[in-house]
Amino acid sequence: MDLFGAEIKPATGPASLRLCVLASGSAGNCSVLVISDHSGSSFWLIDAGLSMRRTRKLLQQIGLGEQSPRGILLTHLDDDHAGRSTLDGFGEDVPVFMHKRHLGRASREGRLFRRTELLADGLKLSDSCSVHVRLAHHDTDGSASFRFTLEDRSRRAQLGYATDLGRPTAELIDHLRGVDILAIESNYCPLMQEAADRPRLVKDRVTGGSGHLSNQQCARMVRAIAPRRHVVLLHLSRQCNSPELAAREHRDAGYELFISSQTDPTPWLDAPVRESTMEPVRAATIFEM
Ligand SMILES: [Zn+2]
Repeated sequence: MDLFGAEIKPATGPASLRLCVLASGSAGNCSVLVISDHSGSSFWLIDAGLSMRRTRKLLQQIGLGEQSPRGILLTHLDDDHAGRSTLDGFGEDVPVFMHKRHLGRASREGRLFRRTELLADGLKLSDSCSVHVRLAHHDTDGSASFRFTLEDRSRRAQLGYATDLGRPTAELIDHLRGVDILAIESNYCPLMQEAADRPRLVKDRVTGGSGHLSNQQCARMVRAIAPRRHVVLLHLSRQCNSPELAAREHRDAGYELFISSQTDPTPWLDAPVRESTMEPVRAATIFEM
């Protein structure tokens, strides 16, 4: 597959899922998922929290030129994940998928489009790829976390995308267990959060179980999920975290660690299909706060 040409061409290599986090943080989140199988390749956006101009610029930078995504999957409707200008900017032929729980807010805030499609448990994205959805605790309406599964005969690739999670739960761990690539938020260092010059209300919202995951909560969740190839840490707080502190919790891990940023896209992370083995069903560790 040539991602650096003018178009995404039919795949010639093994079927695969590929991920590039264009940017992540409280100033805007947007990732690109490329699905390649026997019928060709398509790309999707996960969240659209950057301006249209910046989204276009970063798509150019990673080799996708002026192409538009097949669709946009939204985790939730906060502005840093669902920016109005970008959702408007891609036009009517790019459907926007949001969880049915977000319908009320979308309609109150004028963010329902003719092309809005509602997600519940899952969706087929192509002949061979589907996404399964679970809602995490985040503010009132929750945040959708995604498990993408690409199947090619008996082989499979899986990718998990989970941000704005509130708190680790057994349900989320089960949902994401054993994926090849895991993108997951690692929002704050508890000490920096406590020391930060910000209102108590904000601190309580972030740390209270319906806001974000700390570095330690993220690392515990990742260990329980046991991803196979790559982990990307998402949504690091600029004020209350650093890449070094977030990475420190993943020392000696058996996966390759990447840390997303607000300024530069990550490298392309690749999960080709592999033989799927029967995996033992383990009882999940309960992390409810
Ligand atoms: Zn967010």
